[in-house]
Formats: sequence, C-alpha cells, structure tokens
Amino acid sequence: MHTLTAGLDQLREQTRLLCEGFPDEYWRETDRNRRYPQEFVNTLTEAGLLSALIPAEYGGLGLGLTEASVIMEEINKSGGHSAACHAQMYTMGALLRHGNTAQKQEYLTQIAAGELRLQAFSITEDKAGSDTTSIETAAVRDGDDFVITGHKSWTSRIDESDLLFVLARTSEKPEGKGADKTHGLTLFLVDLRQVRAEQPESLEVVKVRTMFNYATNQVFYRGMRVPASAVIGEVGKGFRYVIDGWNAERILLASEAIGDGYWFTKRGVEYANSREVFGRKIGTNQGVQFPITDAYMKVRAADMMRYEAARLFDAGEPCGAEANMAKHLASEASWAAANACLDTHGGYGFVDEYDVERKFRETRMFQVAPINNNMIKSFVATKVLGLPRSY
Ligand SMILES: Cc1cc2nc3c(=O)[nH]c(=O)nc-3n(C[C@H](O)[C@H](O)[C@H](O)COP(=O)(O)OP(=O)(O)OC[C@H]3O[C@@H](n4cnc5c(N)ncnc54)[C@H](O)[C@@H]3O)c2cc1C
Repeated sequence: MHTLTAGLDQLREQTRLLCEGFPDEYWRETDRNRRYPQEFVNTLTEAGLLSALIPAEYGGLGLGLTEASVIMEEINKSGGHSAACHAQMYTMGALLRHGNTAQKQEYLTQIAAGELRLQAFSITEDKAGSDTTSIETAAVRDGDDFVITGHKSWTSRIDESDLLFVLARTSEKPEGKGADKTHGLTLFLVDLRQVRAEQPESLEVVKVRTMFNYATNQVFYRGMRVPASAVIGEVGKGFRYVIDGWNAERILLASEAIGDGYWFTKRGVEYANSREVFGRKIGTNQGVQFPITDAYMKVRAADMMRYEAARLFDAGEPCGAEANMAKHLASEASWAAANACLDTHGGYGFVDEYDVERKFRETRMFQVAPINNNMIKSFVATKVLGLPRSY
C-alpha cells in the first residue's frame, strides 16, 4: 500500500526517514562484501518509491521526474548508494512510452505493485563501446520466436531482476552517407523467469567485480529464445526507444551525484570543525576551507541545472541539452567535493570506517557511466553550439 504524498518536501522527508534505517555501517558491510543491498531495495519498493514514475492508472505514484530525482538525491545524501535501485525507476520508461497495451497492462501493474523487478538493461558490448549503433548481438526470427545470440560486456542487476531489456540487431547496420545508422536494432523485453526455468543454458551471467559495490555482469546469450510478443514497439527501431529514455536517466544520475556532493561537503565541514592540529581547528585554515567551498558552489550550480532539466522534462519540452549538462556538471561537482572531503580527512579519508573512501569510489562512476563526459561534451559542442562532429 503506497502512502506517499506528492509534495516535494514531504517526499524528501519520507525518503530521508526511510534511509535513516540504513546507516553507514549497513552500506559499509554491503560494500565490503560486494553484497546487493536487498533489504534497502525491498524497503524502498514496499514504500512505493521505486514506482514514482509509473502512472497511477497502473498503480504507480504517477509523480514527475523532479520528484523522482529528489528521491535519488536523498538516498545518496544520506550516505547510501542509489545504484542498487535507480534503474527500477527509469528502465520501465521504454515500456511505458513504447510498449503495447497488453505489455503495459501485464508488466507495469506488477512492477508498480513491487511483484516484479525490471532493472536490467543489456546494451553495451566490448567492441562497440560508446558507439552503440555498432553492436553485434543478433536476434534472428524463427517462427513465432526470435533467437538471441551474442555477448554483452555490461549488464547490471540482471540477477536481481525478473525482466530484462536487450537491444539486439535484427538487420544489417545501414551504411553510407545519410543512412540512418540507428536502424536495424530491436528492443526486447525478456521475461527472465521463463528463461531461467525453461532454457537456463541459453543465458550465462558472469559477475564483474568493480572498484565499488555494483551488481554488474558480463552476459552471454547462447541462442536465447524469446517470443515475438517480447518486441517493444517496432522491429528495427529499438535504438530510438532507448535514446528516448536517456534524458530521464541523465537527470536521475545527476541528482544522485548531487546527493553525493552534499554528503561530501557536509562530512568535510563536520570534520574540519572538529579536528584540531597546531592548536586550532583545521577548518580555520583557508587551505582547508576553500576546496570544500569551491566544491559546494559547484554542487549548488549543478543542482540548479538538474531542476531546470527536470522541469523541462516534466513539461514535455526538449531537455536533451539540459539533461546532459546536468549530468556532466553534477559528476564533476561531486568529484570535486569527494576530493575536498578526502583531503580534509587526511589519512583518515582512506580508512573505511569514515565512509569517505567508499563514497569516493562510488561517485567516480558518474563521470564515466552510463555515458562518459567526453560524449556529453561532444553532444553539447555539436547539437547545442553547432560545431562539426568529429566521429
Ligand atoms: C559500473 C558500470 C555499470 C554498467 N552497467 C551497464 C548496464 O547495465 N548496461 C549496459 O548496457 N551498459 C552498462 N555499462 C557500460 C557503460 O554504459 C559503458 O561503460 C559506457 O557506455 C562506455 O563504453 P566503454 O566502457 O566501452 O568505453 P569506450 O567507448 O571504449 O570509451 C573509452 C574512453 O574513450 C572515450 N571516447 C570514445 N570515443 C570518443 C570520442 N569520439 N570522443 C571523445 N572521447 C571518446 C570515452 O569517452 C572514454 O573516456 C556499465 C558501466 C559501468 C562502469
């Protein structure tokens, strides 16, 4: 039963209170053991928070992206790690916007009720990297099914998901000047419960241990059979549906980085105000004050861009530039705050019981994934400023 109200302040407060049940020691333990924070995700699911963006007609909270971003921000601001659950919030966007009535009715209602998890997206491949339109995993039509074969170098949370989106090639990549290189890729909504029960040999998941606690994997598809009814929208147009969800993803990740940024500045200030060396608080030294202050100003600026991007998104207006800039600015700001906080803590910044080193590792990702900041600079350079494209 969902009890959340739509007011932004209440939502912030309700999220904060839920997060209080998961203190630093909890995140330290899950990080140390590279354990999926199942209890935390269950708590958020039961409160309905992860269905924030699912319309009320399917049983979700029917909130806007502004509200959703506040939930993500509060998790990271509390010292938690929203990566465990953020995809549950936005991945369903492709289903909501491009799924047919039967798909939406069947899955969205169960996702909103917390009965099913859709939080895995299988796109990136080794050879293609950031050049997504060059992926090679193939889906071949065979009667009423498609047979998927290939390898994905990254697919996060697949073991913690009931449903999975896979982007696969159903026809050759169009080549030549003016060709629509996005054509030929199809998006499938795979019911992992069916695959695990009836054709487990067609799916191999290999855990990838990363520098922080992230449930990510390599995935090998070995002739995985999915019904044609698993296709989202039209065959060959899947990449467009994926792109369509990128703005929401960028804005939510920006808000997570902003939450980290506030956490780092708060912890930096607290430590600087308590630690005494040379007979005075270290925070008295401008060499300690200024990096924290610089970072705080960057976080605030990124926060404003986040709200602007979310406002445009919620109004149904174009927001690609703002969403990308928010993600870029927020990731740089949280990284500045992370470094200032670690420097302020001196040697203790490296000790796990202070949590700074953990958050430091976690926040570094925002500059790299789901899209690298270089690609964002390219987007702004070419799409916003009108400079020539280099690739
Ligand atoms: C923890 C984690 C979880 C992930 N989870 C998922 C997931 O669930 N599903 C999924 O599909 N993917 C996932 N990814 C993959 C992620 O989306 C990719 O890492 C990302 O798209 C970049 O691809 P790449 O790592 O191959 O980098 P590459 O494309 O090889 O790029 C390497 C570097 O070269 C730079 N570069 C490349 N081309 C250019 C250019 N034209 N101009 C300037 N610089 C350039 C890049 O910016 C980057 O700095 C995850 C990644 C991480 C780290």
